[in-house]
Amino acid sequence: MVDKLQQTAIALLKNEPLSKYTFTETGGPADQLAFPKTVSEVKTLLDYAADEQLPVTIIGNASNLIVRDGGIRGLTLILTAMHEITTVGDRVIAQAGARIIDTAEAAYESGLSGLEFAAGIPGSVGGAVFMNAGAYGGEVATVIESVDVITKTGSLHTYQHDELAFAYRHSLVQDTGDTVLAATFKLAHGDKTAIRTEMDQLNALRASKQPLEYPSCGSVFKRPEGYFVGPLIQKAGLQGHILGGAQISTKHAGFIVNINHATATDYMDMIHLIQQTVKAKFDVALEPEVRIIGEEK
Ligand SMILES: Cc1cc2nc3c(=O)[nH]c(=O)nc-3n(C[C@H](O)[C@H](O)[C@H](O)COP(=O)(O)OP(=O)(O)OC[C@H]3O[C@@H](n4cnc5c(N)ncnc54)[C@H](O)[C@@H]3O)c2cc1C
Repeated sequence: MVDKLQQTAIALLKNEPLSKYTFTETGGPADQLAFPKTVSEVKTLLDYAADEQLPVTIIGNASNLIVRDGGIRGLTLILTAMHEITTVGDRVIAQAGARIIDTAEAAYESGLSGLEFAAGIPGSVGGAVFMNAGAYGGEVATVIESVDVITKTGSLHTYQHDELAFAYRHSLVQDTGDTVLAATFKLAHGDKTAIRTEMDQLNALRASKQPLEYPSCGSVFKRPEGYFVGPLIQKAGLQGHILGGAQISTKHAGFIVNINHATATDYMDMIHLIQQTVKAKFDVALEPEVRIIGEEK
């Protein structure tokens, strides 16, 4: 199988630092890393991993990810080279590695409304489906018609919306371990000027509230029932707190920013500190929204 992989044009990077790719600019190395460009390349790589008995990790745009400093064993696939977006009537079909921001822009270009909320979410389509990403009252679940996946055993399958078990920051693919290959968004014809205005307004609001000038992974914690995360962390007296190179953002306490060569360990220590302090002061258990993967150093 290694020979078969060598016959293809698929490059395998060895011991590649994932801090080059994560939005937090932290994280250890991937033992083996590939950027498949087609579904067939994904299949070949999954077959290779199965033959070599390597665990597989799928990454999109790495904007909701902490990779621990010990890195990831086995084979890691980053899907950002699969980024085609097509519009057909009132549907936008995007490959998993396309940015959801570009997908929202493509919808706008075709005068399609429904993805305005996603105009500033820095993830890929695959990551947005996996997370059921959402903002400003919208979420991926409301506009998805179907999702194409490749299963752990290598077969292709299409899920329809109702099969995807969407919930707050949850979708079926979190449970199945399927790899999202593409998604079809069903949108509505709308007024282009109104669509542009809403996207621009939401992005301006985002820039005013979020520390976009620093590396981060967005909101670190899920919103607990009945509370907002930022004010809880503020009231706990933690805003601005620094651990190593990581800081609880002075602009939005729900974000942990990398201000000075932070490590994933700095991020993990800060997450634990916040969880312990908020639990002790307010008896609220904060659950990470960010996905934490890889091994300790
Ligand atoms: C500044 C900033 C602002 C943000 N604002 C928002 C926001 O408003 N709303 C929001 O919901 N999120 C927000 N996020 C978080 C993030 O952008 C979303 O969660 C996004 O959906 C993650 O997509 P990704 O491609 O970056 O996923 P990654 O970080 O690469 O991966 C996240 C998880 O998805 C899995 N995954 C990724 N691609 C696939 C695939 N093709 N198939 C199967 N599994 C896959 C990974 O294994 C991992 O478990 C923000 C992040 C940042 C840095």
